[in-house]
Amino acid sequence: MSAIDELPPLRAVIAEHQLSARRSLGQNFLLDLNLTAKIARQAGDLSRCDVLEIGPGPGGLTRGLLSEGARRVLAVEKDSRCIPALAQIAKAYPGKLQVIEGDALEIDPLAHLTPPIRIAANLPYNIGTELLVRWLTPKEWPPFWESLTLMFQREVAERIVAQPGSKAYGRLAILAQWRAEARIAMSLPPGAFTPPPKVASAVVHLTALPEPRFPADAAVLSRVVAQAFNQRRKMLRASLKGLSPDIETILRAAGLNPTDRAEQISLEGFCALACEIEKNSRD
Ligand code: SAM
Repeated sequence: MSAIDELPPLRAVIAEHQLSARRSLGQNFLLDLNLTAKIARQAGDLSRCDVLEIGPGPGGLTRGLLSEGARRVLAVEKDSRCIPALAQIAKAYPGKLQVIEGDALEIDPLAHLTPPIRIAANLPYNIGTELLVRWLTPKEWPPFWESLTLMFQREVAERIVAQPGSKAYGRLAILAQWRAEARIAMSLPPGAFTPPPKVASAVVHLTALPEPRFPADAAVLSRVVAQAFNQRRKMLRASLKGLSPDIETILRAAGLNPTDRAEQISLEGFCALACEIEKNSRD
């Protein structure tokens, strides 16, 4: 395999900076730079985009994004041990890489980014879902990003692209497919990572739709879906009764059968229900 840049191999970077992986930070590193370049290509043409990367670690994906021609990369990393290694990459790509040391859940990266913006990350497993839900549920749409190219545990990736009637169908499928086109772009075995995680992983690519597929308020939809799937084996009239004393009437007004279960309800059905619930709370 050919070298993607002139920086040292990642194993040497890890040895030099003593970056032994920490489980508490969800550290499973990608050390094959041809693989990280391939993941970067799943994000599309980056030459006209700023890319937000969460959790660059020793910089494998960062180098993939830069070697694939990203206009600029903003990388947010919590582990201070990684910052000197990332500074070496910034030096090799002058003006192209900005690194912020901090917690991605706390930092607002927008001040440092110029649209169009894409997000690409091998996410720490412990905050991946939370970040995804944040990116999918701003009040206004379209969001600040054009696309998300994200590594998840395979099981989470399957939940994002799941269809009604399947076990994996739930809150993530609805929130992702409501406002984005979501597909699994690549699958990776545990051995692709150092150290190898217990389960397989997958890269999911989501493209923001110009507008949501159906009208609904993001916060209401998110709440309704969370509640409906919290007790997914129950009928909707039981699982949602906390939302309104008159939930049966609301379900019928939304065109839903109160005895149906959450996993039978389409995206359109949940959006209609969120609208009825919102309407009802205003009346
Ligand atoms: N991108 C690197 C790669 O592909 O080899 C590392 C990926 S590793 C799965 C996740 C990275 O996220 C680690 O570098 C970890 O230190 C970092 N991280 C964990 N929690 C974080 C947080 N709250 N904010 C920012 N980075 C975080």
